[in-house]
Amino acid sequence: MTPSTATPPSGALVFFSACDDFSVWKRALQAQLPQLQILHPDEVHDPRAIHYALVWKPPAGFFAQMSNLRLIINLGAGVDSLVGRSDLPSGVPITRIVDPKMSQMMAGYVLFAVLRHARDIPYFEQAQRQRTWAYRHPRAPAEIRVGVLGLGALGAHAAAELQRQGFEVHGWSRSPRTIAGVHCHSGMETLEDVLRLADILVVMLPLTAQTHRLLDRRRLQLLPQGAAVVNVARGALIDQTAMTELLQQGHLGSATLDVFEHEPLPADDPLWRMENVLITPHLASVAIPASAAEQIAQNILRVSQGQPPHHQVEAARGY
Ligand code: NDP
Repeated sequence: MTPSTATPPSGALVFFSACDDFSVWKRALQAQLPQLQILHPDEVHDPRAIHYALVWKPPAGFFAQMSNLRLIINLGAGVDSLVGRSDLPSGVPITRIVDPKMSQMMAGYVLFAVLRHARDIPYFEQAQRQRTWAYRHPRAPAEIRVGVLGLGALGAHAAAELQRQGFEVHGWSRSPRTIAGVHCHSGMETLEDVLRLADILVVMLPLTAQTHRLLDRRRLQLLPQGAAVVNVARGALIDQTAMTELLQQGHLGSATLDVFEHEPLPADDPLWRMENVLITPHLASVAIPASAAEQIAQNILRVSQGQPPHHQVEAARGY
């Protein structure tokens, strides 16, 4: 059953995001569900008419009086800012965006960052600034071990792409996973083994009570001397002060950081001035309306027909 031929869902959908374009999302959703009313929060006169909420970091109290809410759709992959809130209506399922196009975009960023470290590009950038012909013999990809923490929708895709590039890839997850060509490890008891071997560590875990500051000073020190860190998940997964000091002391060779404990990263943070750190402002991957709208529509239809939505967030485990 395609969305357009199914019985239209009742009620209206409210959209909230401070960093996404309402009109673009409205158009994309209406192409899937022409009869569904899609409202900006300013257009909501009766909160009881709202059955679906598509939101990214809505303000406190946003869901108040939405007594007929049937589904909350997180407008992104990471749900840490949503699941911990105390103002969520009870019993309403939460889903998130799981979109192959979003995984592809993330894998592109991760590939760029890993190749940059693997090919010593930060070293050549510094040499160029000094007009120095600083030959450094390239390492073969198979000699470089990449650890990928988190093998979910985004991590598994990135790990497979890295494996295709010829790196020795070691993935780590909570439950056992199988990815062709990737050495898969699972459970806390294997984390330190993965850290000890990772020349380049890619962090792709959700932020939960279990993963908050998972990479503390002691665990960061387990990484081989000169290792690179790529964090595209959430800043609070890593002790940022310890990481900064280890980068200054040279135990960590370099880092590519898309996420930080406090965003925007404060102007006086030492990371800004460090030659061995590349900073991007939390954009490794984003929700893409044209591709995500279809799965959002499918989930709305499923819920309107009494079925559970796909990709439901488990509040108890936090992701
Ligand atoms: P998923 O929920 O699909 O996957 C999470 C992975 O982490 C799973 O493999 C899971 O294990 C593993 N995991 C969770 N908790 C633990 C734990 N305690 N110990 C070991 N492994 C654990 O997430 P996604 O891949 O979709 O996204 C990952 C994160 O990326 C998001 O939560 C978000 O924070 C971030 N993100 C960042 C973006 C950016 O632009 N920088 C954009 C989008 C997302 P298991 O397989 O056993 O469940």
